[in-house]
Amino acid sequence: MAKKKRSKRSSLLADIWPQERNFILRPDRLPYLRKIYKTDCCVFCSARDQGEEFSSLCIHKNEQAMLVLNKYPYNSGHVMVLPTRHCGDLLELSTIEYTELQKLLRKAISIVKSEYRVQGMNIGLNMGSIAGAGIPEHLHWHVIPRWHGDTNFFPLIAETKVISESLEVVYERYAKHFK
Ligand SMILES: [Zn+2]
Repeated sequence: MAKKKRSKRSSLLADIWPQERNFILRPDRLPYLRKIYKTDCCVFCSARDQGEEFSSLCIHKNEQAMLVLNKYPYNSGHVMVLPTRHCGDLLELSTIEYTELQKLLRKAISIVKSEYRVQGMNIGLNMGSIAGAGIPEHLHWHVIPRWHGDTNFFPLIAETKVISESLEVVYERYAKHFK
């Protein structure tokens, strides 16, 4: 029996992409993973209107900027800084809004540092859903504390992040800095 001939292309692909594990393709789970929930109103505007209390996760707000706890934290202490006004484009912010946002961002970083013995932080803004923003219509900077060894295989295999502190505790840690 003649040996089956492998094309040059397929053998090349096999070399580049060795199959290390099986996988199940589930594109329908993307909205869940990106925390995109279709709601009639913006969750950040709802938090703003509800005011500074744990149930809204809004820690602080002024006329231009606000600080909100992330309901689905990537790490313990994950907080967000956003414009008080509903706005999804950085270029549409006024100079005062942008300045106040940056001031609150610095304050958020300072508070995170004072509450946690962080070894680093991820600080970033995703503009537009294509860039990874879960709620693209309302800008928000993520401030995420980082420690050595805070990532493991669990998020990869179980799509679950283990957070060792309740949102209530984190909220109180931050809220006291504005009292
Ligand atoms: Zn909004």
